[in-house]
Amino acid sequence: MTDRPPSHLFYQGRTRKPVLDQARGVYMWDVDGKRYLDGSSGAMVCNIGHSNPHVLAAMREQMERATFGYRLHFETEASEKLAAMTAARTPEGLNRVFFVSGGSEAVESAMKLARQWAVATGQGQRWKVISRTPSYHGCTLGALAITGYAPLTAPFDPMMRPMPKIPAPRAYLDGLDPADPLTGLHYADMLEDCLLQEGPETVLAFIVEPVGGASTGALVPPAGYMERVREICDEHGILMIADEVMTGVGRTGRFLATEHWGVTPDLIVMSKGYAAGYVPLGAMVAHERLVDPVLDEGGFQHGFTYAGNPLACAAGVAVLEEVDRQGLCANARAMGAVLKARLDGLMARYPIIGDVRGKGLLLAFEFVSDPQTLTPLPRELKAHDRFVQIAYDNGLIVYSRRTRGGVEGDHVLVCPPLIVTEAHIDEITELLDLSLAQFMA
Ligand code: PMP
Repeated sequence: MTDRPPSHLFYQGRTRKPVLDQARGVYMWDVDGKRYLDGSSGAMVCNIGHSNPHVLAAMREQMERATFGYRLHFETEASEKLAAMTAARTPEGLNRVFFVSGGSEAVESAMKLARQWAVATGQGQRWKVISRTPSYHGCTLGALAITGYAPLTAPFDPMMRPMPKIPAPRAYLDGLDPADPLTGLHYADMLEDCLLQEGPETVLAFIVEPVGGASTGALVPPAGYMERVREICDEHGILMIADEVMTGVGRTGRFLATEHWGVTPDLIVMSKGYAAGYVPLGAMVAHERLVDPVLDEGGFQHGFTYAGNPLACAAGVAVLEEVDRQGLCANARAMGAVLKARLDGLMARYPIIGDVRGKGLLLAFEFVSDPQTLTPLPRELKAHDRFVQIAYDNGLIVYSRRTRGGVEGDHVLVCPPLIVTEAHIDEITELLDLSLAQFMA
């Protein structure tokens, strides 16, 4: 790596990273000319790959016209078009779109719209948002209060109002069959128990990542879970919020992951793949029956300055056009099946891999010291950090966390852009194979 002066930047730690020079398609290059295959799409963001010419052209065209118009002063063709395209891709009735600049902002927006809806409809006693452990819903204090991941939340506990949490399903660790609908009912019952304990009349909403992201390592809910959770919400008059920040816009092989189970949430939040890394952009999409009473009662008391700016929306339109033009939901299904089979092949050869799971191109494997008992590797090994670094040195970017299904362990997410071909997957597999061999040595 080239010698560099000390940095004024700080993020989570002090480690210096290579300096990015260029990125195209599924590849990225640093200023030393080293090439990386983006096997995690950034943080599951760059779904349509880097430097897509259609998106760049749309952004240039919008920049020539206007980059910023404050949303309370102007609508733009781009914001109107993106809202209409979004509503057309979400279930019937979910046709009110509120733009934001990221996932945490989208989650905050959903929580606050839900609360204002409750107040506007005479249900002011409802304020609790039930979420799951583990989960990740964002880093702002509202979204953090419903995030079930203690290492991130603990320092801030005194600053947040406690919110109820239930365990997220983790059938494989609990020795249950994820294909058995009774397993889904078993975990969904935990929502009902929690509601009854809290007093259902005090509960506003239940928020769920349809397929777990970095918090769980791509855990897919067991059969019947999502459907039963929807029923329980209806039975108690509470709203269901689908956090599709990571899963949305084709990542799991459908535009929305909730489509896999035919479940219609009341509110959906999207961000990462929605703008695919071109601009900061996200959306909260709400059912019209929630929005109308709030607007009738004086309006939604919430909004972010940069939200829905013309440049962001123009990029968002072009991203959705590319998702359609290239058939990326179908490609995520097809290539997801190929990549899953390759990861299964690696698991058969490396006993240190204890589970491979996920949907579409949201896939993960986890490390164990014993595949029979699923005992995790010791924390001191720092397996997730070490493996990511080895892969990085070999020119493959993957994403990892020290958690698996909410208990001790390490998982690695392998989530390349949805434009991947079989040749890219061969390359990812070879690099993973090489990295695993070095990791074991
Ligand atoms: N929800 C989920 C499911 C996420 O994965 C993330 C980001 N990892 C967020 C919310 C927060 O998004 P952002 O980082 O854009 O604020």
